[in-house]
Amino acid sequence: MTQEELFKKLIAHCKEYGFIFPSSEIYDGLGAVYDYGQNGVELKNNIKRYWWDSMVKLNDNIVGIDAAIFMHPRVWEASGHVGAFNDPLIDNRDSKKRYRADVLVEDWMAKQEEKIAKEVEKARKRFKENFNEEQYLATSPRVLEIKAKMDAIHARFTAALNDNNLEELKQIILDCEIVCPISGTRNWTDVRQFNLMFSTQMGSTADGANTVYLRPETAQGIFVNYLNVQKTGRMKLPFGIAQIGKAFRNEIVARQFIFRMREFEQMEMQFFVQPGTEMEWWSKWKETRMAWHRALGFGDDNYRFHDHDKLAHYANAATDVEFNFPFGFKEVEGIHSRTDFDLGRHQEFSGKKIQYFDPERGESYVPYVVETSIGVDRMFLQIMSAAYTEEKLENGEERVVLRIPAALAPTKVAVMPLVKKDGLPEVARQIIDELKYDYNIAYDEKDSIGKRYRRQDAIGTPFCVTVDHQTLEDGTVTVRHRDTMLQERIKIEALRAMVDKEVSFRELFKKIKA
Ligand code: ATP
Repeated sequence: MTQEELFKKLIAHCKEYGFIFPSSEIYDGLGAVYDYGQNGVELKNNIKRYWWDSMVKLNDNIVGIDAAIFMHPRVWEASGHVGAFNDPLIDNRDSKKRYRADVLVEDWMAKQEEKIAKEVEKARKRFKENFNEEQYLATSPRVLEIKAKMDAIHARFTAALNDNNLEELKQIILDCEIVCPISGTRNWTDVRQFNLMFSTQMGSTADGANTVYLRPETAQGIFVNYLNVQKTGRMKLPFGIAQIGKAFRNEIVARQFIFRMREFEQMEMQFFVQPGTEMEWWSKWKETRMAWHRALGFGDDNYRFHDHDKLAHYANAATDVEFNFPFGFKEVEGIHSRTDFDLGRHQEFSGKKIQYFDPERGESYVPYVVETSIGVDRMFLQIMSAAYTEEKLENGEERVVLRIPAALAPTKVAVMPLVKKDGLPEVARQIIDELKYDYNIAYDEKDSIGKRYRRQDAIGTPFCVTVDHQTLEDGTVTVRHRDTMLQERIKIEALRAMVDKEVSFRELFKKIKA
C-alpha cells in the first residue's frame, strides 16, 4: 500500500467510524472545514487534556486562561498581522488551481531528498554488506549533483523569502521546472501576497460598524492579558500562560484533510522570561516538547526538528517539531523565541506600560517570550496516522486496529454479554455502572464476539470485557487486550485497578521532564 493510499483509507476510516465529518456535508461540504464526530470529540478532548495538564498541572509557574476570539482591531495592527500575515500565492492558468508558492518549492526540495534516498537504497542493494552510506553520500556523483542543485535553490529560496522578493520566488518555480499536479503545465501567473485573516463586522448598523477579525492565532489573547495575569496571580518571572482555543486562517490551499484547515484549534503557551535568558529557555522547551510527543510511543525516528529558513518578523529563533505523516515530514508544532516584540508593540499601540519589575535586578523591563504552539487538529492527525494499522491474522482474517495510546483512546472499555439472556446483560450493566463515573464505557450485545472485537479495534478501545456464564458462578470476566489480542480472566473487582493503571496519564507524564 502506498502512503497515498494509506492516507485515503485513513480519511475514509475517520468518517466511517465517527471521528471526522466534512462540515455541512449534506450541502456538499465547506472547503477545509471539518466537524468532529462522537469518537473524534473524545480523542480531541483527551489530546487537549494531555497538553493542558502537562503545562498547567505539571508546572507550578504556568497558569491557563481562555480569552475571547474577537479582539480589538488595534491588536492585529500592533501584532503585525494586518500588514504582514500573508502567504505568497500563485495560480496555474490551465487548471485554474491556486497554490502557495513557498510550498511548491518546499515540496520540490522534499522530492530531491526522496531521490537521494532512492539512490542510497539502490546502492545498498548493489554493494550489500560492503555498503558504507556515509562514504556513498559524500562521493556519489549523482547524489552530489542533486545536493548541489538543492543547496543552490535553498539559498535562493531563503533569500527570496527574507527579501519578500516575489519575482525571484516565481523564477525559482520556473527554474525548478515545477509543474501543476493537475494540468501538468508550467503556465504560472505572477506570485502575489494574500492576507490570511478573516474579517467581519461588529455593531448593529453598517455605518457604525467596526471591522473585527477572527483571531488567526490564540497568542495575542495571552499577550494582552499579560498584566492581568501577572498582577492577579502575583506571578514572578519566569512564568507561562497557556491557552487552548479556536483560530481562523483563510488558507490558500487546503487539500490535506485536517492538516490545513480554515477553522482550527491551537494549544499555545507563552513563557515570559528575563531578557538574555531566552535562548536557554528556547532550548529547554524544545527538549520538553519533543519528549511530550515521543512519550506517545510512535517511534522517535518519526520526529525531527526543522529550523525556519525565514524568521517571522517577531522571532530571533524558531524551530518546528515535524512528524512523519503519510505525506512526509511536516510541522505539528512551532517553538519560537519571540523576543519582546509583542509586549513591546502592545505597549506602544495601547499607550499602557507593560513591564515587569524585577526585584532581583531592581529594574523594570518588557519580558521576553518563548512560545510553544501546536495545532490540536494536526496532533489528532499525527495520532490517527501513527495508530492506524491493518493486520493479517493467523486465521487468515484481516483487522483494522487503531493503536491509540490507552490514555487518549475515545472509549476505554467495551463491556459485552456473551448472549442476550440468562442475566448476562444485567451483570454487564452492573459493571458499566461501576466504571462509568471514571471512564468512557461502551456496551455492545449485537453480533458475534469476534465482530464486536473488530468494531472496538477500529475505534481504538484498549479493553473488551466479556461477561459469560462462568461470570455468574465465580465473578470473573474475560478481558481481551486490543494490541496483543491476548485474553485473561480476572475478577470483576480487579477491573477498575487494571483499567486505571493502563489508561492513566501518569506514565506519559513521567516520560516528560517537566
Ligand atoms: P504552516 O507553515 O503549516 O502554515 P505555521 O508555521 O503558519 O504553519 P504557526 O503559525 O506556527 O503555523 O501555528 C502553530 C501551529 O498551529 C502549527 O504548528 C500547526 O500545528 C497549527 N496550525 C497552523 N495553521 C493551521 C491550519 N491551517 N490548520 C490546522 N492547524 C494549523
